[in-house]
Amino acid sequence: MSDPNCIFCKIIAGQIPSKKAFEDEHLLAFHDIKPWAPVHVLIIPKLHIASLADIGPEHEALMGRMLGLAPRLMRELGVTNGFRTLINSGPDGRQEVYHLHMHVMGGPRPWSQG
Ligand code: 5GP
Ligand code: ZN
Repeated sequence: MSDPNCIFCKIIAGQIPSKKAFEDEHLLAFHDIKPWAPVHVLIIPKLHIASLADIGPEHEALMGRMLGLAPRLMRELGVTNGFRTLINSGPDGRQEVYHLHMHVMGGPRPWSQG
C-alpha cells in the first residue's frame, strides 16, 4: 500500500513537508519543488503504484479521479488560459520518482521548461 523508501509516500505520510493543493481519501496534489511553470502541481494516488506501466483494470477509477482533478485544480489555482498534463513513465520516459504522478502545469508563458 505504501513503500517506506518512497519519497512521495513520505510526503503522503507527512514525513516530508509539501505545499498541498488538494487532498482526499484517494489523492494528494502538491506543488512541485522545481516548478517548470508559474503553477506546477503533482497529482498522486495515495496508493503506492510505481509507474503508469504498473496500472491495471483495477486502477481505472483512480486514473479517472486523477485526470478529473486536473481541470478543477487549475481553476482553483487561477489558471484560466490552458494547462499541460504529463505522466513520465520508466527510464526512457524520464521518470525520476517511482510513485505514479501526473504533472499539471499552467500559468502565463514563458515557462522555464515544457
Ligand atoms: P518525474 O521526472 O518523475 O516525472 O518528476 C518528478 C518530479 O517530482 C520533479 O518535477 C521534481 O521536481 C518533483 N519532486 C521530487 N522530489 C520532490 C519533493 O520532495 N517535493 C516536491 N514537492 N516535489 C518533488
Ligand atoms: Zn510511494
